[in-house]
Formats: sequence, structure tokens, C-alpha cells
Amino acid sequence: MERIGAHSHIRGLGLDNLLEPRANAQGMVGQGKARRAAGVIMKMVQEGRIAGRAVLIAGPASTGKTAIAMGMAKTLGSDVPFVMLTASEVFSLEMSKTESLTQAFRRSIGVRIKEETELIEGEVVEIQVDRSVTGATKTGRLTLKTTDMETVYDLGSKMIDQLQKEKVLAGDVVSIDKASGRISKLGRSFGRAKDYDAMGADTRFVACPDGELQTRKEVVHTVSLHEIDVINSRTQGFLALFAGDTGEIKPELRDQINTKVAEWREEGKAEIVPGVLFIDEVHMLDIECFSFLNRALEGDLAPLVVMASNRGVTRIRGTKYQSPHGIPADLLDRMLIISTKKYSQEEMREIVRIRCEEEDVKMEPECLDLMGVMAQETSLRYSLNLIAPSQLLAQRRKAPVVSSQDVRAAYQYYIDVQRSTAYAKETAALMFG
Ligand code: ATP
Repeated sequence: MERIGAHSHIRGLGLDNLLEPRANAQGMVGQGKARRAAGVIMKMVQEGRIAGRAVLIAGPASTGKTAIAMGMAKTLGSDVPFVMLTASEVFSLEMSKTESLTQAFRRSIGVRIKEETELIEGEVVEIQVDRSVTGATKTGRLTLKTTDMETVYDLGSKMIDQLQKEKVLAGDVVSIDKASGRISKLGRSFGRAKDYDAMGADTRFVACPDGELQTRKEVVHTVSLHEIDVINSRTQGFLALFAGDTGEIKPELRDQINTKVAEWREEGKAEIVPGVLFIDEVHMLDIECFSFLNRALEGDLAPLVVMASNRGVTRIRGTKYQSPHGIPADLLDRMLIISTKKYSQEEMREIVRIRCEEEDVKMEPECLDLMGVMAQETSLRYSLNLIAPSQLLAQRRKAPVVSSQDVRAAYQYYIDVQRSTAYAKETAALMFG
């Protein structure tokens, strides 16, 4: 059985190259303005220009705040950290609020570490070729496709002749015949990513200054600052990472790690990759958490913090003061605020349709219309929750497609918030008069 998450249909923000929202793309429908705003922010993240800032996505319940955050995550590179946290998770008995926020911050900062290792059999080799060797007008990369290490070693001496004979220029993609060692041209490259994709290459490395082949390659891996903390913590050890129970980490250790990482950066061995920390239901944080965030955002090593709230003006936890979204004014003032709006009936119908596709449920068009109306009357989330039970009811009557009668039956079985509230009031009146 496959588990399908509530946001598994979201594959990006659904924007075009100019960051304009497409009506229906990558699983995203409507909410165009908010999606574009999120897209611009992600562009800045990718350019490394927005670390240490905070974004708030504010809007009514089920208007896609989490969906947009997921879409943001999907637009990040595969090694850029995206950490999701619900504000109430910060309050645990095992560690202090600030410790759990610090850990979340450090999980959202990646450290890209470069290492050199030996080449291994079966890898696609990328070789730097010198202009003087090939007579090319430009220096560029030459990509040799071989899965045989011996061929690579042999080429150390043979290559130069071969390259000249075949008039291979720097930047050409070539393949090597294993038996004869013969080089043939496949096309031009200049190291463009698509050439590597076409070859299924997952590693790239540099070798061969002046036609000499080197058999070492550069490997890059990304770990989070938090992972480095835990691995180096004497009391925890790296096994704690698997258990997910890392306890509190001493501030002195973090200082040491920061110093070490700064050294690696200076030596060109490591690069910092600020990621994104998403905090849902941010009104659940209290004043101490907010003052921690205010300070932490100023630090050298801060991710982009994206928060979401569906509250209007409400009390700031831990104080007697009210404020928009329960966030103190000084923090609110430094945030970029994106607002989400209620969906139209048509948009909600479309979201239900996408979810049906995702959950492998066939639904009649009139039934989708009904779902749209129902979402408008109750809530989008309620309607989405009725997809699975309606399918089960259709199966019970051996129908291959879910129709309105199944949805109506499911609507009778499970009550929505309004009916639940009415019921609670009624029982309270009966019990307490
Ligand atoms: P809450 O305030 O209650 O936390 P939310 O604003 O975070 O709600 P989501 O959880 O993102 O709302 O939305 C509810 C459901 O609808 C999710 O399954 C989500 O993936 C889907 N959804 C919301 N907006 C869109 C959209 N624009 N396109 C596609 N699916 C969406």
C-alpha cells in the first residue's frame, strides 16, 4: 500500500520562466499572486540574497499556505535544506524552546563539503583539455564516456594523438570504444548540464591539465550544521541522528563547529548553503520564541524563515497584548508578508480533481461539481477528506466511478466543522441547561 501525503500532488510553484503563475501547473491551482510572490523570494534564495530574512504567509484556513511552502521547497536544489516545523513542536519536555528552535535553524543550514577521491569503475569522466594540446581556440571541457577504468588509464598516453587525429576540440563530448580505445565525437558540450543528463552522468570532476590524466575526482556532499553538531557531540554520537533523539547540544560545541566550518570556508573546502525553515501555525509560538527568532535572524548563519498563520489579530502567547497573527510588531515589521485568499468554487473543484488523480480515484464530472459546491459550503479540507471514504462506498456498490450518491452518503457519515459545532452546542445545552 502506498501512503499519499496531503501535499504529494505539489511539484513546484507552477510558474513560468518569467515567474508568472500558470493557471494550473505542477499540481498548483489559483492563488496566483501569492505563488508569484513566493517565486520571487525563491529566486533570491537561489541567488543567496535572502538568508536571515523572514517571510509570513497569512491567510484563512486551507488556502494553500502549506501547499505554497511545499512548492517553494520543490524549487530549491536537491541539496538545499528545507525543514518543516509546527510551532507547537517547539514545546516539548525533552528540550528547551530555544534549543529546539536552534536545532531547527541548524538543520536548515547546509554545508557543502568538497572532497577528493579516487575514480571508480563505471563513472563518466570529465576531462579538462588544454588549448595547446588540441589546437582549439578556447579552453573547455572534453567529456569522455567510458565505463572501463583501464581505458581511462591507457588514455593517459594515447589520448593526445587520438584527439588530434579526430580533430576533437575542447568542449566536445566524445565516447571511447573499450576494445580499441578509439575516440569518436558525439557533439559539443562546454560543460552544459544537459549533456551530462543525456549521458546519465551523476558525477563530474576535473582531471588532465596538459593532457595528463588524473584519476582523482572531486565529490561534493551536503550535510546540515545540525548533523555536524550531533556527529561531533560526545554525549550523542551519530547514532542519535537515526533515532531522531538528539537531546540538547552544548553551546561550546556549536561554537567549535562554527569555527571549524569557517576554516573550511576559508580554505575553499566547504560552502554554506542557507536553506529554508518553515514554521507552521506560528501564532502558537510565545514571546520568548519570537525574541529568539528576532536575534537568530541577525546571526551569520541564518536560513530563510517562512512562517504561516491562519489567525487574525490574536494574543501574543506569554503576554497580554494582541497583535496581527499573534506576532510581535518588531518581528512583523521585518517580514515580507504574502497573503492567501479564499478559493473560488471552480478552483476548489479543480483541487479536488487533482487530488482524485493523485489518489487514483475516478469521479464523475457532476460529482466533482458537487464537491466544489460542498467545499465552498463547508471547507476545502473537509471535501478532500471525503474523497477516500466516497471511493470506498463506490467500491462497496461495485461502481468503478465515484458518483454524487457516494459523496452524499459520505457527507452523512462524517460531519464537518459547522455541524460538529452545532452538535457540540446542542449537547452542551442538553447536559448543562
Ligand atoms: P491551515 O491554515 O489550515 O494550515 P493551509 O492554508 O496551510 O491551511 P493547505 O494545507 O496548504 O492549507 O491546503 C489544504 C489542502 O489543499 C492541501 O492538501 C493542499 O495541498 C491543497 N491545496 C491548497 N491550495 C492548493 C493549490 N493552490 N493548488 C493545489 N492544491 C492546493
